[in-house]
Amino acid sequence: MKYVSHETIAQKVCDAICEISLNCDEDVKKLIKEALDKEDSPIVRDALKSLVQNHELSPASRVPLCQDTGTTVVFAELGNNVRIIGATLFEAIEQGVIAAQKSLPMRASMYKDPLFNRENSGDNSPPILHIEHTHGDSLTLHIAQKGGGAENKSFMQMFTPSTTADDIIEYVINGVVNAGSQPCPPLVIGVGIGGNFEQAPLLAKRALMRKLALPHLLPQYSQMEAKILEGINKRGCGIQGLGGDLTAMAVHINTAPCHIASLPVAVNIDCHAHRHCTLRF
Ligand code: SF4
Repeated sequence: MKYVSHETIAQKVCDAICEISLNCDEDVKKLIKEALDKEDSPIVRDALKSLVQNHELSPASRVPLCQDTGTTVVFAELGNNVRIIGATLFEAIEQGVIAAQKSLPMRASMYKDPLFNRENSGDNSPPILHIEHTHGDSLTLHIAQKGGGAENKSFMQMFTPSTTADDIIEYVINGVVNAGSQPCPPLVIGVGIGGNFEQAPLLAKRALMRKLALPHLLPQYSQMEAKILEGINKRGCGIQGLGGDLTAMAVHINTAPCHIASLPVAVNIDCHAHRHCTLRF
């Protein structure tokens, strides 16, 4: 049995949120610089240069990469031989979220009630936690700070089993292109195929946490990822809708078994801030 204190989890979650809120993903930085090297349009070059400058200024000045510091979303893999001492896993993570909000500080971005009396919780709580129970004595937390603009343009549909891979490719491309500049491109696109009505969006969100542009292990799905990426980038929305070849940086597909009568497809969009990391205990 491994014992992990809630203080240890809270401190590491706090440190991780601060780190990803200030330091852009290295793969994103590389892609943006490569796009800048290839770009001719002055207005697109300006936008790309602003991003490069933002990636340098944010950690240097300890000001978050974006004013929308996001909702904390955590996918936990909790081994059956792990015991958390002093609090539940949710409480420990929430303590880390609150500490990070105060420490940086980050904009408080969460309402207690979604519709009436939209009072701000004031500390970015609560996080959203998904727990998968695993064997062994390790606890892994995949953490994301998810911006509202990109989340708002995410979408899903319950397709029927006669739907083809080409239908899904077209559906994803059209949905992302129709979102235009609102999700803050260049984007990372998570696609969940299978499961059911609640699982497909979770597959899509979990796909965003994969290393950027790491292809699906099965060639039929990695080919779909490549076709969707090419199709989106050919349509020319570009960075913040200003044009150019880089509307999406990567497409990640995640799949699960599904009912014989269904074929759910969900698309979760992440913006260029793309804040995510993995903690292991
Ligand atoms: S979608 Fe992303 S880049 Fe746009 S405002 Fe929200 S966090 Fe910032």
